[in-house]
Amino acid sequence: MQVFKEITPLQEYLDIQIQEGRTIGFVPTMGALHDGHLSLIAFSVADNDLTVASIFVNPKQFNNPDDLKKYPRTLDRDLKELETSGCDIVFFPSGKEMYPEEVHIVYDFGNLDKVMEGKHRPGHFNGVAIVVEHLFKITKPDKAYFGQKDFQQLAIIKALVEIQKMPVDIIPCPIVREADGLAMSSRNIRLTVAQRKAAPGIYRALQGAKSKFNQTSIKEIKDWVDRQIRNIPEMQLEYFEIVDQKSLMPVLTRRQGQTCIACIAVYLGEVRLIDNMFLN
Ligand code: AMP
Repeated sequence: MQVFKEITPLQEYLDIQIQEGRTIGFVPTMGALHDGHLSLIAFSVADNDLTVASIFVNPKQFNNPDDLKKYPRTLDRDLKELETSGCDIVFFPSGKEMYPEEVHIVYDFGNLDKVMEGKHRPGHFNGVAIVVEHLFKITKPDKAYFGQKDFQQLAIIKALVEIQKMPVDIIPCPIVREADGLAMSSRNIRLTVAQRKAAPGIYRALQGAKSKFNQTSIKEIKDWVDRQIRNIPEMQLEYFEIVDQKSLMPVLTRRQGQTCIACIAVYLGEVRLIDNMFLN
């Protein structure tokens, strides 16, 4: 496995690989890797001649400076895990390397970045789009792998690729969970023992919403989830929404043929966790 910290040598290396006809799969991450990230690597390794992973804690997508400061960083372990997972190339740039000067791009994602994460984390998706577009231009992948754990992010990336007409296939990958249902997240290691014990309540609330979906009104499901989360003392609900999987617009009443997804964000102390589940 090769590690590059600078853009130019990475691009020179990849250009040769592309000229020699090799396909490139790309997995962007912010490090502190877990089995969710490694599942994306496994999909890429299976589909492509070369897999490139990036590790970059992108300051532009953090609207909360404290979250950025406390974001877990476990580089040595990450590199070992990438190597054993069959990753070929790791790109691990500094902030200066990625953004030698200020970048001012404002994307228009319509409704997609106005709801849920976009509403509660202003500027977050614009920052995600800036780094992903930059990384795609550097790595020129045939396919890029993103987790459905960040469902709204996936919608934004698909829109970005369409708006900027980038020739890359976006491959959605299923959510990897702990045995008790908690979606794997780099932030989970910041949970206290009591918070970690309470955290699978998020998954149980989503499962409950799914099992009620065919018999109960949307409003009743939302009220039920609200009560479930309120009953967990360690947890504060930021939002729970049932939205159309394509438009991400809230679903008020079910329509035939529409696929709905439940999305949730909660705080456990200072740690903010998100999760989602298809309801039909
Ligand atoms: P992050 O390092 O949090 O930016 O995540 C990098 C990629 O890993 C994103 O595409 C995430 O959606 C994906 N990812 C994070 N957690 C999981 C998970 N539990 N299951 C599947 N993919 C995940």
